[in-house]
Amino acid sequence: MILTDIKSLSIEALEEGLAKMGEPKFRAKQIFLWLHQKNIENFDEMMNIPKNLREKLKEIYYISHSAIEKKLISCYDSTVKYLFSFNDGECVEAVLMSYHHGYSACISTQAGCKMGCTFCATGQGGFRRNLTAGEMISQLQTIESDSGVRISNVVLMGMGEPLDNYDNVISFLRLASCESGMNIGMRHITLSTCGLVDKIRKLAKLKLQITLSVSLHAPNDRIRERTMPVNKRFGVDELLSACRDYCKITGRRVTFEYAMISGVNDSPACAEELAKRLRGMLCHVNLIPVNEVEMTGYKKSGKKSLNDFCSYLNSNGVPATVRRTLGADINASCGQLRGKYTKA
Ligand code: SAH
Ligand code: SF4
Repeated sequence: MILTDIKSLSIEALEEGLAKMGEPKFRAKQIFLWLHQKNIENFDEMMNIPKNLREKLKEIYYISHSAIEKKLISCYDSTVKYLFSFNDGECVEAVLMSYHHGYSACISTQAGCKMGCTFCATGQGGFRRNLTAGEMISQLQTIESDSGVRISNVVLMGMGEPLDNYDNVISFLRLASCESGMNIGMRHITLSTCGLVDKIRKLAKLKLQITLSVSLHAPNDRIRERTMPVNKRFGVDELLSACRDYCKITGRRVTFEYAMISGVNDSPACAEELAKRLRGMLCHVNLIPVNEVEMTGYKKSGKKSLNDFCSYLNSNGVPATVRRTLGADINASCGQLRGKYTKA
């Protein structure tokens, strides 16, 4: 029998599972607290759960856990990068960053990714499997227990395309923000997507208070198709129209990620085209120099190109900032550490 990750279940889903076993409802909250607040790894650590129930739980459930395989600490700032392995040995990366307002964790939603963006180390490594909601929670738990800090913000910007693992990611958002769980408010969670338009529209209907971040990286289809194969499925017009509707439905501003690649998407003409397309939209553009990944051949744009691009957007009605790069010495851009690990 295939076991279910018990950490992925809401209190209501646990109650249903217990009812089927003929067990009382109140056990669900007790089990949930052990999993989400005490971060236990074995059913036998659930001290207030009777032994016979613990044995029954073991027959249908397992407890997901993220073990630290590798850890790198930046010398430039206090960024920490983790390589985690799960119960079945699959590995993903996560990063802990410190900001003025607290600690932010960047976690993975899939082992690998199917989307194949040409600048991305994860995209180059192929797809392994979806992560469970519990495995996303367990990355946060291991980071908190290892570092001793309380995570205040979460970004789904590690390995994988969150909207390609839609149901598990939605379960994660509900679990992470649950008061009996890690209690991280939806407003403190950012979901980053390469632009799966059908899923953006589906997500909008939930009216969650999360921040949606869209990896745009180009002002038009011609350039975007070169770097992001997903653009062949959903073009820029279709994507921006879904983003406009997302803002209208949720009342939330959309963030656009734009990695500046020298000679590819960083010209003044690109800035002009981008400003035209985004003008009037409730949005913010984050510009970052592309992280140079071995084998891709891409080079980051120079400081002047970045600043000129940023100024042009701002003076033409599109709020933009150049994002600070953290952990530059530890390959903090996801996918690079795992790539090195699997090669070794
Ligand atoms: N799949 C999602 C989230 C994970 S990628 C997405 O694509 O949005 C997280 C972010 O890192 C995305 O904005 C992605 O475009 C960006 N990224 C990937 N490789 C990069 C690189 N080499 N340099 C800069 N940003 C990169
Ligand atoms: Fe996947 Fe995001 Fe990397 Fe593209 S940038 S390959 S969508 S992880």
